Amino acid sequence: MKAAVCYEPNTPLRIEEVELDSPQANEILVRIAATGICHSDLHFLKGEMPAAMPIVMGHEGAGIVEEVGPGVTSLKPGDHVVMAVAFSCGNCSYCREGRPTMCVENLPVMSGAVLPVGGGTRLHKDGKPLHHLFGLASFAEYTVIHERSAIKVRNDAPFEVVCLLGCGVSTGLGAAMNTAAVKPGESIAIFGCGGVGLSAVMGAKLAGAGKIIAVDMLDRKLSMAKELGADYTVNASQEEPVGKVMEITGSGVDYAIECIGNVNVMSQAFSSIRYGGKCIVAGMAPLGAMFSVAPFEFLLGKTITGTVQGDIRGAIDIPRYIDLYMDGKLPLDKLISSYYTLEEVNQAFEALGKGEIIRSIIRFPKAGSK
Ligand SMILES: [Zn+2]
Ligand SMILES: [Zn+2]
Repeated sequence: MKAAVCYEPNTPLRIEEVELDSPQANEILVRIAATGICHSDLHFLKGEMPAAMPIVMGHEGAGIVEEVGPGVTSLKPGDHVVMAVAFSCGNCSYCREGRPTMCVENLPVMSGAVLPVGGGTRLHKDGKPLHHLFGLASFAEYTVIHERSAIKVRNDAPFEVVCLLGCGVSTGLGAAMNTAAVKPGESIAIFGCGGVGLSAVMGAKLAGAGKIIAVDMLDRKLSMAKELGADYTVNASQEEPVGKVMEITGSGVDYAIECIGNVNVMSQAFSSIRYGGKCIVAGMAPLGAMFSVAPFEFLLGKTITGTVQGDIRGAIDIPRYIDLYMDGKLPLDKLISSYYTLEEVNQAFEALGKGEIIRSIIRFPKAGSK
């Protein structure tokens, strides 16, 4: 089967034939139908975040279960699944207290690019192991993942839309609805209107937020934010965003969400909240980056916090988001700018790097044999 392999940062992915083992205990074989191109992949590709190499990237995947390994009870062949970027074991203290995206088993998967719970790799090229980004590796016709990395979803929802819920879109929706937990009438500023930011706009709208302020440097993205529910837009290349937020709200927003991973924007987001307000950093900055805040602002009761995939409970929230989409209440398909084939993956990253697209999708029209 074909996969897009990264051998070293800042080189094009190579589309080549690779070997994939059968699923082992608690694992499933998935035929990938669609996978989103996420900015996190780009961070690893550019070497801004370290990744074990060689590696098959891609993590916003959706597809059909083809085969299950021993002990799999939650899924069967034919089930439609979305891959969850944050693995959850179900047993650790975080999982037990209902915060599955904080699972202690998650970091080893993320940093080692292996299957969860010490599972190693199932992908090979000429007998040499290939790593699986986030234990998922969706830039491939097939993949083997842990059953708990898959979320069963309804069979009538389009793969090219639901795949987005594996990572960025859930992060944005959840950052607004769970981490901020914005209540009807409260104000929110969203910095960065890519896939995560626009999803945060939609989440804020769904939650009944009052003033929703979208900040970006591209008018095209700002008009999309407006279409998806923003009441005000601020082009940060033309206006100073903190001052503008103050002008709109009088005293600052109740919540600000940073969705870019830019340290200067993080400072702006923190400065734009009111006394006692909450700033959420959802963006992924390069490893080692630092940002500054004026500590006196903590004396104003301000909070700053992170979020892992929007603090969602994937097995519950992702099917709900899909129902909302299918009922016409959450227009996720509007985030899709373009479609590519696996062979065009480098082109897709080039377009993403230039800021030309919000989300693009790789579709696998007809998968070959494993
Ligand atoms: Zn856990
Ligand atoms: Zn992602």
